[in-house]
Amino acid sequence: MKNHVELRHLLHSEPELSGGERGTANTLLHYLQHHKPDSLISGIAGHGILAVYQGELPGQTILLRCDMDALPIDEKSNLTYRSRNKDISHKCGHDGHMAIMCGVAKELSTARPSRGTVALLFQPEEETGQGAFKVISELPLKPDICFALHNLPGFPLASIVTKEGAFAGASAGLIINLKGQSSHAAEPQEGISPAPAVASLISLFTELTKVPEGVMATLTHISIGKEAFGTSPGDATLMVTLRALTSRQMKKLTDQVSLNISEIASKNNLNFTTEWREEFPATNNAAIPNSIVEQTANELGYKVITTEKAFSWSEDFGHFTAKYTGALFGLGAGINHPPLHSPDYDFEDRLIPVGVAMFMGIIERFLKE
Ligand SMILES: [Zn+2]
Ligand SMILES: [Zn+2]
Repeated sequence: MKNHVELRHLLHSEPELSGGERGTANTLLHYLQHHKPDSLISGIAGHGILAVYQGELPGQTILLRCDMDALPIDEKSNLTYRSRNKDISHKCGHDGHMAIMCGVAKELSTARPSRGTVALLFQPEEETGQGAFKVISELPLKPDICFALHNLPGFPLASIVTKEGAFAGASAGLIINLKGQSSHAAEPQEGISPAPAVASLISLFTELTKVPEGVMATLTHISIGKEAFGTSPGDATLMVTLRALTSRQMKKLTDQVSLNISEIASKNNLNFTTEWREEFPATNNAAIPNSIVEQTANELGYKVITTEKAFSWSEDFGHFTAKYTGALFGLGAGINHPPLHSPDYDFEDRLIPVGVAMFMGIIERFLKE
């Protein structure tokens, strides 16, 4: 049986995109079967896995969640365990998060809790914001509390980053389709070009990066007409990512943007449709689980860093904290560690025992109370 660093490297070498985590799930199932959970359920919301360890006495249920998917980023590295799948790589450290969770499974297999239930959830499709929502609707148990961690470059190695309340922001992807009418490029007045509306939308979204802190709209893609000189365009598509630190700010932002789009379209005589994708609610850390994280870190001697502001990135664990009492915490990956989602990022292996110790400490602290 592989140690957890080897397991992480194996998972790293076989990355899969959101929703396609079949091989990853097989690797995990193979590992988990050797560590004898009381129940092992696969195929949850696609390739999700739940490994359940029961204590001797009845008690509360604690759920720990990790994520399974990789990103559509080509890995340029000399790592011996570099990605074997072209244009796909683990650049968010979910390989490390899975290795940590497997370490917890191994610990529990030899030392079950005295009371209560521990459920280890391996969740697919985090990066697209689809997984948590789907998994929750198929979850065969009801957790009393839930926890997750994410490695965080830019913080001291093995520090524990916490914050009560809003921890990670909300975000949503918006696709705007504008429909006018194409015409000969010599007679643009005979058609309805979406170009002026696109210009208005570009300035709208540029302005929206300057509103209250943490609220932003990032234009990620634009296409207008076809690649041709002979035709004045009849349609356009824009893609925008909206972000806010709290769910309330997010609602305000989406309402405002929706209103502005419809005003701009009608002013320019265009029809339009909007599609919302990749919706992540804000992750809100409840007081009790957040203090369990801080007490556990203190007891284990890890430096606790409490952030003042919520992070502007989002995590689909927000779906869990919207439904259950829970907390997400950060594991510092080193001040100078390359950032998440960058091509030269790789998970810091020294965090594996730290993550395992944190989760084991959290389990013990919660279930004994
Ligand atoms: Zn990510
Ligand atoms: Zn991630």
